[in-house]
Amino acid sequence: MFDPLLLLLILVSMLAGFFLGNRQRKQHRYRQFHNDSLNGEYFVGLNYLLNEQTDEAIESFIKALEINVDTIDTYIVLGRLFRRRGELDKAIHTHQDLLARPSLTREQSLRVQLELAHDYVKAGLLDRGESLLEDMLKTSWSGSDESVKLILSVYEQEKEWQKAIDIIRLVQKGGGQYNLQLAHYYCELAEVALESNDVLTARKNIRIACARDCVRATLLLGRLECSMKNYRESARVLQRIYQQNPVFISESIPLLEHSFDALWSARGLSVYLEKCLREYPSTAVVLASARLVARQKGDQEAGRFIVEQIVKRPSLKGLSALIDLNIHNSEARPKQNLILLRELTECLLATKPVYRCSYCGFDGKALHWCCPKCHEWGKTEPIMGVEGE
Ligand SMILES: [Zn+2]
Repeated sequence: MFDPLLLLLILVSMLAGFFLGNRQRKQHRYRQFHNDSLNGEYFVGLNYLLNEQTDEAIESFIKALEINVDTIDTYIVLGRLFRRRGELDKAIHTHQDLLARPSLTREQSLRVQLELAHDYVKAGLLDRGESLLEDMLKTSWSGSDESVKLILSVYEQEKEWQKAIDIIRLVQKGGGQYNLQLAHYYCELAEVALESNDVLTARKNIRIACARDCVRATLLLGRLECSMKNYRESARVLQRIYQQNPVFISESIPLLEHSFDALWSARGLSVYLEKCLREYPSTAVVLASARLVARQKGDQEAGRFIVEQIVKRPSLKGLSALIDLNIHNSEARPKQNLILLRELTECLLATKPVYRCSYCGFDGKALHWCCPKCHEWGKTEPIMGVEGE
């Protein structure tokens, strides 16, 4: 396959030749020794290119080629190509060299700065990238959308949630392009506050996120109320998920069971679970219902309930719970067989992912509110179906 970098270098050399020739024809007022020097750099560059000395070739072509509206894109593409190939030193060098040119217009300079910021971020030089982007965002540049996205990615890596919120507040002019992201940043602040038992700050940030209809905020609020023993409130808040985003009902079930238990309200839980089973059935709801049946009517009745449900919606987790129930009521060889079967289903479940990103398909056992692969917020959800919920 032909190396794209080599192709680009040949293009740069052709451009350099073209512009040098053009300038010699049109700009007679230029001093001859200056042109001679640039011509020299051009031929030196060609020589390096022929000898496959790409670094030296780039250096010479950059010196030879006048930076103007016609050639800047070529250099930007060259820098990007280095970045994509992981040659970050060369990408930074190319963009820094461009930036040092006094002939750049303001628009060109901002475009090169953005490229340089991308290089810094990819190279892990977050402080440099952050500082460059902060300066750029003080201008009202039309390309600032990309700068905002890049600086938000820097703040996310640094876990600077408040700075990320401030930037969105600064640039968001109606439309709510960053609303979901903003809600998650407030949730992050709330999680940090919860870790240090700062309930007041946590509650304040969760409330702001809740106002943006964020299911994570609802779960956080339910968890907070539950930990404060405000069980009536936690039960009320968590039942909102039914309307907000039913895929996450399974995430709220353990807290709901705990809240209704503390309220001595098996009836309240039963009514809610029945509603979920009718409209949005999931294995978590089936198993919570089976636990209620077991407490009220015994294991046999709970077993019958699970069989009835897994016939309608086959699931590995349901099968595993059914085996568990039957192990308790079996003896000798049948019991041994059931233990073997349980081990088998547990092995199968251990290999299956629990959550999947609807944007890029990344899956795993943990619920990442920001996908580790595509970095989209709020796209990861519990997997439904036979192997999931
Ligand atoms: Zn993803």
